[in-house]
Amino acid sequence: MPNYLMFAGLILMACLPQAASAQQWQAVQGDVLLIEVPAAGRHLEVRAFGKAWPWKQIDGQHIKAWIGVDLTTKAGDHKLLVRGEPIEQRHVIRVNAGSFRISRIEVAKKMAEFDAATLKHIREDQAAIKATYSMQVEGDPDIGIHKEPAEGIISTPFGAQRYVNGEPRSPHSGIDIAAPEGTPVINPLAGRVLLARPMYLNGNTVVIGHGNGLVMVYSHLHSLSVKEGEWLEAGSRIGGIGMTGRATGPHLHWGVRFNQARINPLTLLSGTSNLKKE
Ligand SMILES: [Zn+2]
Repeated sequence: MPNYLMFAGLILMACLPQAASAQQWQAVQGDVLLIEVPAAGRHLEVRAFGKAWPWKQIDGQHIKAWIGVDLTTKAGDHKLLVRGEPIEQRHVIRVNAGSFRISRIEVAKKMAEFDAATLKHIREDQAAIKATYSMQVEGDPDIGIHKEPAEGIISTPFGAQRYVNGEPRSPHSGIDIAAPEGTPVINPLAGRVLLARPMYLNGNTVVIGHGNGLVMVYSHLHSLSVKEGEWLEAGSRIGGIGMTGRATGPHLHWGVRFNQARINPLTLLSGTSNLKKE
């Protein structure tokens, strides 16, 4: 190779950012994983589980990114890509199975077996909630909260395998917080009310979108006191705990979706939880 070409090659190598060595993170099903990697530039993309995840530059050389590990993600190693110009980093997320308990409830027959009209109603409710998961909301929050929306006792934890009147149902995609009727439910993060309406199984339900794909669902509320389209600051009241819809006692069902992934709400908390365990 002519000397001048080798020299040009050396200069080019010196200008390229150092290729980041592969890292591995551990996560449990339902976690929000916060990662930091050396990367810079406006056209980065962080990809895992077939989706792009939000990221922020933290200094000239590093970014942080949040990745949601859905409740039913297969345990094992999954690829994490940080795509930028000119390099692509390949990392690994090792997903560990959560230890989820079994939860059995007994309810009146009309809350477990449905005629065609009721089934239609339930499916419409579910579709309305699902539609909110992909709604665009302004705002660029860090994916985390400082406080739970209500005080109380966790009566059904995240991921519990549920049986209703002995029949297996889908795993519990949120946590249930049992507390006296009327206990305040406080918005933990600023956002827009995407849905506020009564539902057959979920009772009075409010869905709030926060931006960056983060959406929170509050069900079985005593009454509906916020309006669809309204912007709610952190710390404002969403409503009170109730037992509307299918509920065996007053409790809040609190669900979190992040880029559609079903997330354990407690993994969003920056500190320790004040909720009591049953
Ligand atoms: Zn629940």
